[in-house]
Amino acid sequence: MQEGSTLARHSKASGRRAFTAPPNSNPNRRSHRAECERKSVSSRVAAVVVAAGTLTTGVGAANGFGSGDTELLPLAAGSDLAAAFLQTSHSGTPAIRTVHAVDPGLEAAKLTRSEGLLARQHVDQALKYASDGYNTRQAELARQKEAEDAEKARIAAEEAEKARIAAEEEAKRRPKTVKPAEGTFTSGFGGRWGTTHYGVDIANSIGTPILSVMDGVVVEAGPASGFGLWVRVQHTDGTITIYGHVNEILVSQGQQVQAGQQIATMGNRGQSTGPHLHFEVWVNGSQKIDPVGWLGERGISL
Ligand SMILES: [Zn+2]
Repeated sequence: MQEGSTLARHSKASGRRAFTAPPNSNPNRRSHRAECERKSVSSRVAAVVVAAGTLTTGVGAANGFGSGDTELLPLAAGSDLAAAFLQTSHSGTPAIRTVHAVDPGLEAAKLTRSEGLLARQHVDQALKYASDGYNTRQAELARQKEAEDAEKARIAAEEAEKARIAAEEEAKRRPKTVKPAEGTFTSGFGGRWGTTHYGVDIANSIGTPILSVMDGVVVEAGPASGFGLWVRVQHTDGTITIYGHVNEILVSQGQQVQAGQQIATMGNRGQSTGPHLHFEVWVNGSQKIDPVGWLGERGISL
């Protein structure tokens, strides 16, 4: 209430009755203490209360808080006020002091502002709750995804370990060295017909599988002088094995092969007197040795 609009009247205690308005639940509103002549106070206070109540109800409704909001029940407060007045007026309590003349327009402006602030607080609170809820949910989803990713990674690692163990066991099971072809041993390493025969011959029908004797890499696969077609495989210790007169090549240069893997078929190409495999062993990639001894050291007999 502005000072300029306030009419304060101080008076003696005799013949007056005190009236104090009930406490208002909104701290922004001030309580007014009214002191009047007994005859006139009832009608004046009631009029003010009703006026304020009507205005407050209007304001509350305009803000959407007119119903169900216990803070905004000015008519009920007005009834309490009247009851309080009636009670006090018979109590004989000494009168007090100040009377405020209330300007309904100013009161309405104050209430409007007050209820506007209140409504704003409600909206802000609601927005905060919504925002908090959203953030909480997002954090929960992030935690869930993290847990799922961790579980997937754990399963993937488990699968990889299983695959590694399986590959290791498979490597242990399969032979390190195999016979290059099934057939009849027809010619050995050494001097033959005035020259040196640098390999062994194994005769069988055309198309008989020819296998890489050990794990290795195909370093050559194609035509070769005297051999028609050949395949050369280099093994991990540097040894190269040669497969000549083949009918059909089944691998290509640079290809990784395993011991026992078919790389070609038996043929009769080049300088050959009948279908057979010519097989050589080059230690360190160049030194030609007797394949019989080399295979024998590795558990393979021709
Ligand atoms: Zn030969």
